[in-house]
Amino acid sequence: MEEGILITQLNDFIFCPASIYYHHLYEQTNVYLYQNTAQVKGTNAHKTIEDDRYSSRAELLQGLAVYCDKYHLFGKIDLFDVKTGALIERKNTIKTIYDGYVFQLYGQYFALLEMGYTVTSLKLHSKSDNRSYPVKLPGDDPEMFLKFTDVLDAMNHFRLDDFQSENIEKCRNCIYESACGVSLL
Ligand code: SF4
Repeated sequence: MEEGILITQLNDFIFCPASIYYHHLYEQTNVYLYQNTAQVKGTNAHKTIEDDRYSSRAELLQGLAVYCDKYHLFGKIDLFDVKTGALIERKNTIKTIYDGYVFQLYGQYFALLEMGYTVTSLKLHSKSDNRSYPVKLPGDDPEMFLKFTDVLDAMNHFRLDDFQSENIEKCRNCIYESACGVSLL
């Protein structure tokens, strides 16, 4: 994955490393997204909150393409309040706070820091029941941060040819099963 890791792939990878390959088959937009964020990478160093695009009236950034050079992560943020420093990831329904959800926020967080923003809080928001779940900043949760870097390391060294699924239940619940060459079904 030398070309970088899509932030949304963090959750997929934890579910099943193979799923990210099949995700690509279904999500041609990833190519567009990567090209888009590669351009962001080139301009990150010069971007500040005083840029014309993010003038004082535009305190709420939504869907901003971001790139984190340190971890080679790219993607889009959901919502970021420049004034308060609150970074929010909304999902339709949250019943469990999966590590992958937290890692997605971490990826967005580190990208925004590189872009010169100050991020003071992280939050997951479940739209269907309007519930919010605060997430500690990586610096305040060393155990979770270590898990995050371990997952990135595993992703960077992952080879589909060497992978063998061990959980048939995951395959049963996997939306890529019909296309998957390493399914246990
Ligand atoms: S079918 Fe099974 S092995 Fe294939 S991507 Fe899904 S969970 Fe992974």
